[in-house]
Amino acid sequence: SDDILIKESIDDVIQMMNVTANEAGVELICNNEISDEIVITGQTSWFKQLLINLIDNGIKYNKHNGQVILEAKHDNDKLFLIIEDTGIGIPEDHRDRVFERFYRVDKSRSKQVGGTGLGLAIVKHVVKDLKGTISLESIYGQGTKFLIEIPLKKNR
Ligand code: ATP
Ligand code: MG
Repeated sequence: SDDILIKESIDDVIQMMNVTANEAGVELICNNEISDEIVITGQTSWFKQLLINLIDNGIKYNKHNGQVILEAKHDNDKLFLIIEDTGIGIPEDHRDRVFERFYRVDKSRSKQVGGTGLGLAIVKHVVKDLKGTISLESIYGQGTKFLIEIPLKKNR
């Protein structure tokens, strides 16, 4: 495993996903409060994939003129990531299952927007590999919020 430069990785992903957001008519907002030297231990490409998958969902399962907001901050021990959208939301009885491989809430909508149902399974796997935790909050019809905590590399 290597050092993942958090601030830089987030900025790279946002720049990349801005194209997707623009095409979908969704506004991508980023509040990156990470200091330059902050690192976690793992693989940069996996960390970026985690962000890409969550932002991609926030864009895909949104409304026209909706928003996706990424907030990144840290304290002495932990990295905190919040990915929030103003989209369709996830019904309560599906919330435990969306991290399963190939699980999709609305089959007809999922067919329209494309995908395989692997995005969140990958996210869960990467978070676990980074010794972190992920949780989700959602109001059906109003939006979804993913909260991630990952321990920072010690002895900086
Ligand atoms: P893939 O990510 O492989 O392209 P996918 O987006 O369907 O396909 P996941 O990212 O694993 O697969 O998401 C699983 C299901 O959870 C989605 O099909 C969708 O029904 C629901 N979901 C995921 N993220 C959101 C979100 N932000 N808002 C509403 N529903 C969501
Ligand atoms: Mg997805």
